[in-house]
Amino acid sequence: MKRELNNERTPIMDLLKVKKHFFKDLEKTPNDVIDPRHGSYTVYSPLELLMTSLLGNLMTIKTVTGVTESFNNNESIENFRRLVKNPELVEMPHHDTITDFLKELDPDELLKVRTGTIKDLLKKRSFEQYRFESNKQKYWLVAVDATGPHSFNKRHCEHCLTRKHVDKETDKETFSYYHNVLEAKLILGEFVFSIGTEFIENEDEFVTKQDCERNAFKRLSKRLKKDFSRLPICILADSLYANGPVMEICKSNRGEYIIRFKAGSIKTLDREFEEIKRLENKSITCNPIIEKPIGKRGRQGKGKTRALIERLHNYKASVCLFVKNFAVPFDNNLAERDIRMMKVKTKVSE
Ligand SMILES: [Zn+2]
Repeated sequence: MKRELNNERTPIMDLLKVKKHFFKDLEKTPNDVIDPRHGSYTVYSPLELLMTSLLGNLMTIKTVTGVTESFNNNESIENFRRLVKNPELVEMPHHDTITDFLKELDPDELLKVRTGTIKDLLKKRSFEQYRFESNKQKYWLVAVDATGPHSFNKRHCEHCLTRKHVDKETDKETFSYYHNVLEAKLILGEFVFSIGTEFIENEDEFVTKQDCERNAFKRLSKRLKKDFSRLPICILADSLYANGPVMEICKSNRGEYIIRFKAGSIKTLDREFEEIKRLENKSITCNPIIEKPIGKRGRQGKGKTRALIERLHNYKASVCLFVKNFAVPFDNNLAERDIRMMKVKTKVSE
């Protein structure tokens, strides 16, 4: 009988196993959030409310109403009691209760739960093989990129970013309003976890200079440093980040960076590269391809010098990936792969 029980595999058993192994504190951290409700009226703990939403997400149920409807049966309630360790629980929380709680809850409180969960996961050391080694230090790869989840035709709030559009034919001006978010995503093989979220938004509607991705990056890195102070991080970013201040921030956090280089994104670096190219053109003339001796079979080798010259010429962007002072291997394969993975992951997770 006991063996039969052990062999029983149901989704809830799997979930409990995963929770026990990887997220031991999952019943503790959600209850540590600062509860915005008035004590005397509450029936459900923050854990019970958050766990219901989390289960909804796991089951890919899109609406809060759908979540409570799908779970309101005896079997689900019994499973839920085991999950939140509350045998007294009579019913699943109503969707209005969950929505009201989430509306009042400070988003930073929710972020604390996320940070705690990810820290626990990293403590398990299950993802060590995904760290990236450079100069004998192993880094966690964190991709940063902005996405625009919301845009509107009319101003939606005082924090909206605005963009002016001018119709070329009629000269008529229109505005669009949007909210972008800068995300920091920890890349662990096939998985990607959001470890930092920073909204790009204006302080009010009268600002002379709008908030931007680079400013948001400054705030995001401060937050990452605070939340994951001991995590050596290597930032992966696109060419928008190819500038001194970003590199300084990464370095001052004792981190590294791999930044995509695009012609023109750093003028001094571009000039240096052009200079190399000039030398290279010169060296091409000095290192002509050796003529194949008559009668010899197969492809004629280029010789090491000539091969290197051609490489530099053909892979300008990749060679420049190291940007400055970064030990990316001289061949471009690894760095290219990291960036590509990051692009795919950010797209998938949007
Ligand atoms: Zn708005």
